[in-house]
Amino acid sequence: MLAHAQHYPALVLNADFRPLSYFPLSLWSWQESVKAVFLDRVSVLSEYDEIQVHSPSCVMRVPSVIALKEYIPTARRPAFTRFNVFLRDNFACQYCHDRLPTHELTFDHVIPRAKGGRTTWENVVTACSPCNLLKGSKMPSEIGMHPRLKPAQPTTRRLQENGRSFPPNYLHESWRDYLYWDTELEG
Ligand SMILES: [Zn+2]
Repeated sequence: MLAHAQHYPALVLNADFRPLSYFPLSLWSWQESVKAVFLDRVSVLSEYDEIQVHSPSCVMRVPSVIALKEYIPTARRPAFTRFNVFLRDNFACQYCHDRLPTHELTFDHVIPRAKGGRTTWENVVTACSPCNLLKGSKMPSEIGMHPRLKPAQPTTRRLQENGRSFPPNYLHESWRDYLYWDTELEG
């Protein structure tokens, strides 16, 4: 029915017009967004000019930005994952402060596992391989390597804010207002 329709995702905003998530950016396929429009769960804020869907009874443009009609609270605790540790630490080694792509990052136990350190938000930090090797299984005070920030469980809000500084590769022009306006106002 639609050529290349998979290339027409909609940016999904919460009912407060902020993206449901920044990293990864909340995007729905055109099928999901069209369905949500028919179910009256979302308002359409912007549409793709060049593409329409046809049903027996109507023709509609594919939405490019939609907002949920009902607010979804986003205050759940963030998952303790490798990626979220990197995101909390802004993809920067906590010892030398270099920013690196994720495949060049590792994570380090501040109190080494060999000395009883646990794998928790409070004891795991982002590290580059050289710093990780250097620190090995030494205590921070033994080798004088202390993480830049004391590691702790981040709030979802903190992760969202960190994610905002890392825009995805592809941004439809109609999304920009919803992604960067408040950032620029703060700046
Ligand atoms: Zn480093």
